[in-house]
Amino acid sequence: MVSTRAAKRSRTESEDAEPENTTRVAYTPSTDFWFEDGNIIIVAGNTGYRVHSSMLARHSSVFRDMLKLPPSDDEELEGNCPVVPLFDNAGDLERILSVFYDNIKDYDRNAPIPFAYIAAMLRLGKKYEIDHLLKEGMKHIRAMYPSSLSLWKSSSTRIQIDNQTIVQAINLAHELQLCRTLPTMYLSFIRRRGLAGLLAPHNELLNPVAVRRMMIGREKLILLLHKEHRSLKERLSVIMINVCTNLAKCMNHHVVAFESLGLWTTDAGRTTYLKRWANLNQPLCASCIKEFRTMFDGVREKVWKELPQLFTLGTWEDLRDDIEVA
Ligand SMILES: [Zn+2]
Repeated sequence: MVSTRAAKRSRTESEDAEPENTTRVAYTPSTDFWFEDGNIIIVAGNTGYRVHSSMLARHSSVFRDMLKLPPSDDEELEGNCPVVPLFDNAGDLERILSVFYDNIKDYDRNAPIPFAYIAAMLRLGKKYEIDHLLKEGMKHIRAMYPSSLSLWKSSSTRIQIDNQTIVQAINLAHELQLCRTLPTMYLSFIRRRGLAGLLAPHNELLNPVAVRRMMIGREKLILLLHKEHRSLKERLSVIMINVCTNLAKCMNHHVVAFESLGLWTTDAGRTTYLKRWANLNQPLCASCIKEFRTMFDGVREKVWKELPQLFTLGTWEDLRDDIEVA
């Protein structure tokens, strides 16, 4: 049975004692976070959480300051507990309470972290100034969407990302102004979803500014890679004559090896990704392999440098996150 505390109270008090203009916070007690010795009820969505004010103050400087204030005349009390409405998503709040009370037992240290946890850490960490959550959330999101090519090359992440969570990640980065994560988020989206993904009706919720930037960026990226492909291919024979130490061995394999670099492939309409170097499956001499690697790295570095500009974000140096953590 769903019953709200406010509804219970209104049934037990006479209408005279309950002036019509009193706004009551209606909520259903949480099944997970309702402690009998709690001394404050925070409400998000339609759920109330009876928790400990000392715990909130310990983690959050915003709560710490708020709890120092003397109670206001119209403060609502349930028993002796003040009832404080928060304008947060109940799921976000529960994830954060789970971090505080359960030491993040919902996910173990080695398993993939659901993106919803990262989002809750960042959103509520920023709003309530919970430094350690902000730091943890930023650490994960920057590892997933790095702003340097060396980190991108070595990036490994435990965040679980699928086609839907990439939409949530982009929207969150827009909401919190995490500008340095945007170029690789956009790149990841267009790699996964292509143009069809940008135009899909279920992406209505995707930030429209992001959609516009990705449409532009996708086209610019394809043009840039085609240009690089064409100009390097034209120079291929010249480069090889100057570099190759075993032309008889290499000459019949140059073109196949060049095409297999994979920087310019498009499959299923999805744009080329900044692929990692994979060993060439062609019998080339060591000098040629080295030259191919240099070409490969050169294209990647060029694309990386221009990545924010492709998405009309300015340069890497222009981009700042609105959350600065040490
Ligand atoms: Zn060679």
